[in-house]
Amino acid sequence: MNKNDRICIIGGGPAGISAAVFLEQKGYENYVIYEKLNKVGGKSYSPKIEVNGEERTYETGAIMGAITYHAVHEIEKFGGVGHDDGPNMRRMYRDKTGKEIFPFEPKKDFSFKKLFSLLKLKKQMKKLVEIMETKYKGYDCYGHRGVAQGRYSGLSKGLDDALQHIEGENPNLKDLALPFDQFCKLNGVEEVMKIWIGPFTSFGYGFFDEIPAAYVMKYLDTTTAIEFIALRLWTWKEGTQSIYVAANGKLKHPAILNTEVVSVKRPEEGTEGKIIITVRGPEGEKQEEFDKLIVTTPLDYFAKYADAREEEKELFSKIIHEKYVDFIAKFNKDGGPTISGYIFDNMVPERLGHAMVYYHRWEDLEKNCPSTVYALRNHTGDEDVPYDRTIDLMLEDMKACGFPVSERLYEQESYYCPHVSTEDYAAGWYDKLEDMQGKQNTYYAGEIISFGDMEDTCAASKDLVERFF
Ligand SMILES: Cc1cc2nc3c(=O)[nH]c(=O)nc-3n(C[C@H](O)[C@H](O)[C@H](O)COP(=O)(O)OP(=O)(O)OC[C@H]3O[C@@H](n4cnc5c(N)ncnc54)[C@H](O)[C@@H]3O)c2cc1C
Repeated sequence: MNKNDRICIIGGGPAGISAAVFLEQKGYENYVIYEKLNKVGGKSYSPKIEVNGEERTYETGAIMGAITYHAVHEIEKFGGVGHDDGPNMRRMYRDKTGKEIFPFEPKKDFSFKKLFSLLKLKKQMKKLVEIMETKYKGYDCYGHRGVAQGRYSGLSKGLDDALQHIEGENPNLKDLALPFDQFCKLNGVEEVMKIWIGPFTSFGYGFFDEIPAAYVMKYLDTTTAIEFIALRLWTWKEGTQSIYVAANGKLKHPAILNTEVVSVKRPEEGTEGKIIITVRGPEGEKQEEFDKLIVTTPLDYFAKYADAREEEKELFSKIIHEKYVDFIAKFNKDGGPTISGYIFDNMVPERLGHAMVYYHRWEDLEKNCPSTVYALRNHTGDEDVPYDRTIDLMLEDMKACGFPVSERLYEQESYYCPHVSTEDYAAGWYDKLEDMQGKQNTYYAGEIISFGDMEDTCAASKDLVERFF
């Protein structure tokens, strides 16, 4: 690979910014990042809101990390950002009527049934930790290369040898193509879903009867899951966006904002030539020439605006994404929550469109802290709940919890958690993608590669740069 090659990076989210950081660290300085919005960070977006005359950050997208966030930590170090200054995560639980419940506290609302169920859960958690380290050894490296064939290959997520490349054979890994509920059943650990559902389904990553276990365990590997339970989480005072703003600010070539890639023309496979990228910016459209292309944005969209080959169109058409809705709610004076809440009853497909969780960020603002409310409106096999209906349901749920929303300050639906079905996973979707890496000087990164969180996307960029540049 020629270090002077001109490299185009599409997208200035965590994947795009980290790709540039890792390229620079490897001596590639001739790159350009195009970002269609007027900000970097993508779904790590932390707008400032004024409350009582003081501006603070709130989160609309990514909120937290954990000790397993090695790749993010490398980006933090590059930008000179830490993760010890953010607000503590705190939570309580409610049922669908808004009533407070205590699912994990045996002494509150005591019953023997609850006690036995908690003991069973504890035992199964232990079992899961054991089998993931033994029967499913290799499950926790980043990415899905070879998993459908019973192999693993990627950067290690383990704590001791953080971000070292590991690989090996393990036929049991094929089980990870099963939906997570079937995977748990197969291994006699169904109870653990009661824990995993909180940071998984309510965080918009889908339901356990539809999402391959590989994704669930990629994000909530047992170490990360335990950190969630113990609430030993990283948050950032200036918001998750500040990680990428800081890194972008230190790059030799910060992202070019307000500039969308609208077309890609590549030389025929096997022929020499430049990649022609058309970008649309404030001054209209223009064309630029590049030697290499890194796509960090949704590949199913890429297939539509680029000169996609049939195999790209076919493979990328299989990508599914979640429709995750959130808004920042403002409440009447002294009318909001004082702590984040999980509404467990709403984390089932039958309650699609209902609020599953709300995030109260600043403890000292007590009942006057705007809070972000989240809901999913899609599930495989069910009709999507219309967007407006979802908003209405979320508002009703907040009211039921005792917090009528007076205003929605920011509202969005995210293209969230791109993944493939259990069938496509088992049929080797990821190995087909791997075979395409580098064809026509095009490389694929971003959320689909490993999982839709900050760590997996940054790690996927690191892995890509290490292996191909
Ligand atoms: C509500 C919510 C909560 C979340 N919570 C967490 C959390 O707590 N912890 C965690 O780790 N992760 C969390 N995430 C997920 C995390 O934010 C994403 O996985 C991560 O941002 C993905 O990074 P990315 O760069 O792959 O994609 P994105 O963040 O989506 O960035 C892609 C970028 O590409 C730009 N773009 C798209 N198309 C083009 C084009 N044609 N030309 C130029 N630019 C383009 C977009 O504008 C965007 O800036 C959350 C996300 C959401 C929405």
